Parts: sequence; structure tokens; C-alpha cells
Amino acid sequence: MQELPKTNSSVGIDLGIKDMAILSTGEKIENLKFRKQLEDKLRREQRKLSKRFLNAKKENRKLSESKNYQKQRIKVAKIYEKIMNRRTDFLNKLSTYIIKNHDIICMEDLNTRGLFHNHKLAKSIADVSWASFVNKLEYKAKWYGKEIIKMDRLYPSSRICSVCGNRDGKKTLDIREWTCPVCHTHHDRDINASKNILAEGLRRRQAI
Ligand SMILES: [Zn+2]
Repeated sequence: MQELPKTNSSVGIDLGIKDMAILSTGEKIENLKFRKQLEDKLRREQRKLSKRFLNAKKENRKLSESKNYQKQRIKVAKIYEKIMNRRTDFLNKLSTYIIKNHDIICMEDLNTRGLFHNHKLAKSIADVSWASFVNKLEYKAKWYGKEIIKMDRLYPSSRICSVCGNRDGKKTLDIREWTCPVCHTHHDRDINASKNILAEGLRRRQAI
């Protein structure tokens, strides 16, 4: 694979649910808009599937012989496949965009983030999306001669003012914006976090 031209630009990335990625450049990359619609549909059809499963059981029919169940099973699988295909396409484009425009990419190590271990569909899809996104960034960085710096979650990226370094109090998730009491900069929570991730990543890179 041929190296991409250097841009002399570094970027910090914060991962989210509503916005898939928030960049230190101030860009917010919204998660797929169609996603919710398709996921709602998936949920509905999955409910139908479990009803048909129960019906077949009640009537003592084998699942392999239950036409309604099999039809519904294929329907659910197709919706799921559609979600996965669109997601892959979206993540491919996004990772290429970031790798093309930046030489050093700083982000959190997902292994230390404590992913949502629950069965809520939207969140489990977000988990998989993040992991797949990081994976794509990593192999593309290798292909194209770029660099990924990962750091653990212990670093309190949302509490520190990215302008003056003041360590403010803990911010609950509902606080989306805040003003630093020291330098009076008004922050978007996620963009501030991604700026801190960038600064911390570059600091660690220099320390090596
Ligand atoms: Zn400040």
C-alpha cells in the first residue's frame, strides 16, 4: 500500500453515540441518520419473530417446518445485514477521511473505557461500531504511513479545560456545555474532550 502524503496535522478523537466521532478540529460526525429507523424496524420484526417462535412451540411444531417462523427469520436477518452493510460503508469512509487528513491520530483505548455491557440494541451496535472503527483506523494508518496513539480512559478528558488546563469538577453526562471559571472559555463538552485527547496523546508520544 502506498503512503499517503503527509499533512502535518494531528487530531484527537472522542467517540460517542449520537455523534459517532467528535474531532479536535471541531467536527462532529453524526451517527448514521437512517440507523434509528432501521433499528426500530429490526426491533419490531424481532418481536414478531419471538412470537412466532413461541407459537410454534405451543403447537408442538418443529421450527424447521414452521413456514411463518422461517419467513420471519429471513426477514430479520436481511434487516440486520442492511444495518451492518451501511455501517461498514460509513466507517470505511470516515476512517479514510481521517487518515487522509491527519498524520497523527490520538484516541482513547476502548479496552479501558468500560463498554456498555448491556443488551440494548442501539448501544451494543455502538460498541461494535467503535471497535470496528478503531480497527479500520489502525490498519489504514499502517497502510498509509500514519500513526495512531491510544491512551487509557483514566485520563479525565471531559474535566480539563483544553485552553488553560484548569481541572474543573466532575461533569455529569447531561452537561453538554460549560464555561471554564478560570479563563472563561465556553466549551462544547465533546470537542473540549477531543482537544484534551489530542494534547495528551502528543505529550505521551514525546515522552517515549
Ligand atoms: Zn480555562
